[in-house]
Amino acid sequence: MSTLVTGGRLLTCVDETVIERGAVLIEGEHIAWAGRAEDVPLDARAATVIDATGLTIMPGLIDAHMHISFGEARTEEELQIYSPMGHRAIRAAVDAEKVLLAGVTSATDPGGPRGIALAVRDAIDAGLVQGPRFSVAGRQMSTQQGIGNTLPAWVGELDQSYGALVTSLDDIRQEIRRDVKDGVDLIKVAISGPGTTEYAAMSLEELNLAVSEAHSLGRPVTVHARSRQSVSLAVDAGVDWIMHASYMDQVTLDRVVEHHIPILPALTLLMNTLEATPGYYTAAMLDGVKNELDAAVDVLRRARDAGVTMIAGSESGFGMTPYGAWHARELQIFVDYLGMRDHEALLCMTRNAAAACPRHAGSVGTLTEGRFADLLLINGEPDRDVRVLQDPSRLNAIIKGGQVVHPWRPVDAPRRRMAGESARRYVDDVYRPGPQGAPALPARGGSA
Ligand SMILES: [Zn+2]
Repeated sequence: MSTLVTGGRLLTCVDETVIERGAVLIEGEHIAWAGRAEDVPLDARAATVIDATGLTIMPGLIDAHMHISFGEARTEEELQIYSPMGHRAIRAAVDAEKVLLAGVTSATDPGGPRGIALAVRDAIDAGLVQGPRFSVAGRQMSTQQGIGNTLPAWVGELDQSYGALVTSLDDIRQEIRRDVKDGVDLIKVAISGPGTTEYAAMSLEELNLAVSEAHSLGRPVTVHARSRQSVSLAVDAGVDWIMHASYMDQVTLDRVVEHHIPILPALTLLMNTLEATPGYYTAAMLDGVKNELDAAVDVLRRARDAGVTMIAGSESGFGMTPYGAWHARELQIFVDYLGMRDHEALLCMTRNAAAACPRHAGSVGTLTEGRFADLLLINGEPDRDVRVLQDPSRLNAIIKGGQVVHPWRPVDAPRRRMAGESARRYVDDVYRPGPQGAPALPARGGSA
């Protein structure tokens, strides 16, 4: 079965070339040919034609940092404690469709409760539910100072946590061996924790072991590294790409450039945190986020200027970054804050992001022969203004594996939270007596 998408502006995303009247020939799940509409091969004449005149044809977006199992959590406790595993899995399978319907045809989940993203990945591949093509990590490995082991020690270790506490070299080895046996595509390590700009939550010895064990088993390693030391250690250990890198110093940046290590900033989470709930955070917490954003923008702008490969990821999955809503915002941030051209930013969520999708790295990200026929038809010119990708009304069609995607359930079907899913509050604040004691309740029986 072949399909010819023709007549639109074609962005193959191999580079910043624009083909004003382009065409893509699809055979089955894959791209057979892409180029100028007048050069369409003769054997395309039998194909079903999709007329893309007036539209832009581009690869499906790749969100290289999102957490499909996080359930739009509003608190750390909601994320780590409430909701049983089975419920999380079903919820994640439903959420995957929202991500796909936002134009995200591939995604990477770098860490969540054991087995859930794996199950979602495989259920999508098996056609049970629909969503992006996923590459997934297991639980992210963390020491007692890293992201992933952030609840107090007296809470204990929880099955449904997105983190795996490792307290020895052997813990690291066993976690990786087990994850790879169960089928993960990448290994995630947390080498920084909350509230620190300097400290690394793991030693070089520990990180070296994680990288060598994972690489021996054929899996890339990515790291959560916000603090200065953690980014430096990530470079020392030779990780495959670094997430965040907010407090990287110039010395480390020079080494990132030298070793060609891509960076995935995920600035959308910081930006959305600042905007979403200003009344909810203390001033000190908001200052912390603001400081990190300022530091990150400063160093990542230099990284971009130095030619570091930048990868876009949205950190979707939190209450501040619900599924299907914010995936393409990172591109706007790259343009507005890191000084990128719009088309350059677009490559960060297509061609560049494919490098962070180990399961499908050579098969997604560009519209070139042999890759999956994952493409978007956009009513607008995202190479001139990436903001159009945040407007659902501009998304004319999503094609995944050569098939036009249709919703299986209503796009904005409301989700009710389970009664026990979130913390149950007793009161909004402690209830203290006033000068006259408590206000009297109305007398019983209605005889006031
Ligand atoms: Zn994350």
